[in-house]
Amino acid sequence: MKIKKLNTNILFLLNLMIFTTCNAQNKTEVEFINNLMSQLTLEEKVSMVHANSKFSNSGVERLNIPEWKLSDGPHGVREEINRHNWDPAGLDNDFATYLPVGTALAATWNPDLALQFGEVLGREARARNKDVILGPGINIIRTPLCGRNFEYMSEDPYLITKLAVPYIKGVQAQDVATSVKHYAANNQEYERFRVNIEMDERTLREIYLPGFESAIIEGKALTVMAAYNKFRGDWCSENKYLLTDILKNEWNFDGVVMSDWDGTHSTVKAANAGLDLEMGTDVEDYNKFYFADALIDAVNNGEVSVNTVDDKVRRILTVMYRTKVFDEKRFEGEFITERNFQVAKDVAEEAVVLLKNEKSVLPLDKSKIKSIAVIGENAITKHASGGGSSGIKAKYEITPLEGLQNKLGNNFQINFAKGYESTTKFDWSNGTVDTAKNASIKSSKLRKEAVEAAKNSEYVIMFLGLSHHYDMESVDRTEMSLPYEQNELIKAILEINKNVLIVLIGGQPVEVNQWVNEVPAILQGWYAGSEAGNVFADILFGDTNPSGKLPFTFPKKLEDVPAYKFGDIPGNGLEVEYKEGIFVGYRYYDTYEVEPQFPFGHGLSYTEFAYKNITISDNDLNIEENISLTVDIENIGNLEGKEVVQLYIQDVEASVERPLRELKAFKKVNLVAGETKKVHFQIDKKMLSFYDVNTNQFKVEPGKFIAFVGSSSRDMKQKIEFKISQ
Ligand code: BGC
Repeated sequence: MKIKKLNTNILFLLNLMIFTTCNAQNKTEVEFINNLMSQLTLEEKVSMVHANSKFSNSGVERLNIPEWKLSDGPHGVREEINRHNWDPAGLDNDFATYLPVGTALAATWNPDLALQFGEVLGREARARNKDVILGPGINIIRTPLCGRNFEYMSEDPYLITKLAVPYIKGVQAQDVATSVKHYAANNQEYERFRVNIEMDERTLREIYLPGFESAIIEGKALTVMAAYNKFRGDWCSENKYLLTDILKNEWNFDGVVMSDWDGTHSTVKAANAGLDLEMGTDVEDYNKFYFADALIDAVNNGEVSVNTVDDKVRRILTVMYRTKVFDEKRFEGEFITERNFQVAKDVAEEAVVLLKNEKSVLPLDKSKIKSIAVIGENAITKHASGGGSSGIKAKYEITPLEGLQNKLGNNFQINFAKGYESTTKFDWSNGTVDTAKNASIKSSKLRKEAVEAAKNSEYVIMFLGLSHHYDMESVDRTEMSLPYEQNELIKAILEINKNVLIVLIGGQPVEVNQWVNEVPAILQGWYAGSEAGNVFADILFGDTNPSGKLPFTFPKKLEDVPAYKFGDIPGNGLEVEYKEGIFVGYRYYDTYEVEPQFPFGHGLSYTEFAYKNITISDNDLNIEENISLTVDIENIGNLEGKEVVQLYIQDVEASVERPLRELKAFKKVNLVAGETKKVHFQIDKKMLSFYDVNTNQFKVEPGKFIAFVGSSSRDMKQKIEFKISQ
C-alpha cells in the first residue's frame, strides 16, 4: 500500500503497547494511526469530531487527512445537496440506482441478494466519492404506523440479522463504511427528538439489540448512528449504557459512533458517554457545535480527558484506514450501470409478495386477454425521491403503468384511470400533514372515471396503498386504513367488475379487511426500485414466479397490534413504555391467538410445495451439542419456483414466559417442477435460549422443545420434538 506522504516518525513503543492490547487492528494500521495522532494538535483533533458541512467533518490538510464524506442512504446514494444547506446542488452527475427499500429487501428473505444489494450501494458510493453510507436502517418494526418502517426491515430480529450482515459486508467490501442506524429503540417518528423509550432488559436484549449486535460482531459494521430518542431517560447520543457499556465494551466495537443529524445535546456528557462524531447541527457556525470549541474548553478544564478525544479521532482514522481513504489503490466503483440496475430488478422480483390468489386468477395469460383497466395513482407515481433523508435521484424508475405498457405493447388496450389522488402534503417546516380542501369532490369525479375504465375491461389491476406522504421520515400514521378514499374506490369498482387484482404499494401494512374477501388477488409490491413497473408486469403475467414473504405481520386492524393493546403507542406523549415486551409482531399474534390478516412469513407462489420427512440427528441431546435437522421440500406444481423454508422453535418447558414459537433459521430454495431438495438446518444453543435477567446472560433450560418447519409463522408443515438434558 502506498500511503500518501507517510511520515516515518513512528512512536515505536507506544505502537507496541497499543498493538498488543488491540487485537482487531493490525500492526501497519496501528503504526499509521499512531503516526498521525502524534502530529495532530488538540484543535485539529476536535475539528475532526464535528461536522464542517452537512455531510462531512474537517480534514487536516497539512497531514493529508481528507475530510470524511458521508451520504444517505439505505437504498441508494442520495442526491448531492449544497455544502451548507439542504437545497439540491443541481448537478447532473448525482443520479443513483434506486434499490428496493428496506422492507422490500427483507421480503426477499434472501441473504445473497442482500449481499449484492450492499455491493451495488458500495460501488455507487465509491463512484460518487463517498466514504460512509448512512445505512442500513435496522430498527424493529414495532407497530404498523412508524413513518420510517419502509426503510427498516422486519418485526423479527433474526430476519434483520440475516439480511443486515450481508448488506454491510457487501457495502464495506467496496471500501465504503456503513452506518447502522438508528441505535437504539427508535421505532416511531412521532416526537422522535424528545420521546423517551422504556423497556425491560429482556426485551432490549431479545428484540431490539440483536440486529445491532450482529451488525457489529458478524457484519463488522464500521460506524453506528445513535438514534434521536431518549432511552431510559438519556438521549441515545449521550447514553453511556448503550454506547459504551454495550456497544464498545460488550461488543468490542472499535469503529465510530456518530450522532444523528442535530441529535447531539451536550458536550461533556455525550463525549464521555461514547459519542465520537457530532453531525448535522443546524447552527450556522460550526465552531458552536457541542463537539467544537466547547469540547476544547471541556478538555482544558478537565471535564473531558485528552484520551477521550484521542479515542474518538483514533476511531475515525481507523475507519478511514480500513476503507482505504489513505490508499491510492482504493476501489473506484461505478454508478447507474446495467449490472447495478439488474440487481435492483433481481431484488424486486424476489420481494413482491403474493398475499392472495383465489382460484389461481394470477398469473394472467396475455394471449387470452384483450383489455385491462389500470387504476390508481400509484400506477403512475414515482417514489424514489420521497420519504425524507432516504430519497434519491433515480436515474430512472419504471412506473407500474409503464411496466404494463412495456409488457403488453401498443396493440393491447389498457384503460388507465387515476381513481384517487394524494390530497395531503407533508409540511417539513411545521411537521404537519395538510389535507387539501374539496378532496371529496375530486375523489368522486376520479372514482367515476375509474368505474368507466373498469366497465370496459376484462381485468382491473389496481395500484393502491400508500405513498411517501405517509411512508415518511418524521411522521407516523395515526391509523392503518387506506387513505384518499381508496376503500370507496375499490367498492365502486367491485360493483361492476369482480376481476379485481390489487397491488399494494407502500412500506407498512394497511387495513384490507373491508374488501379482502371480495378481491381475488392481492400483491404487496413495496417501493420496489428502478425496475418496479417491469417487475410487477412480469409477476402479473407470469414471467416471474413470486417468492417474497412478509417480513412483518399484516394485522386485521390497528386495535389488534400488541403495542396498541397494551397501551403505549406512538402518539401517546413523550414517555413510551414498550409494555408488550418481547411480544412484538408474530410473537404476540401467535402466542395470544390473535388472528392476523396475513401472517409473518406468508407469501404464495404460482406453484405449490410439499414438506416431507422431517428428521433430527438425535432427540435427546446434551446442552452443548449441536442438532441437525433436515426436511424434504418438493415442488408439486407445474412451474419452477422458490420457497422460503422457515424453522421455528417452541420452548415447551420454560421457567419464563416465551413466545409460542420463534423464527430461528430459514433457507430459500429454488425447485423446478417435480424436484425435491433436502434442506438442512443446524440448531445450536443460542437458538434455544432466552435472556435471563438474573444472570444477565442468554440461557438454555433443559426440557422439551419442538422444531416446526413451515411456510409462514402460522403455516407449520412438519414438526419434531427433542429434549435437551443438562
Ligand atoms: C435521519 C438519518 C439521516 C440523517 C442525514 C436524519 O434526519 O434520521 O437517518 O441519515 O438525517 O440525512
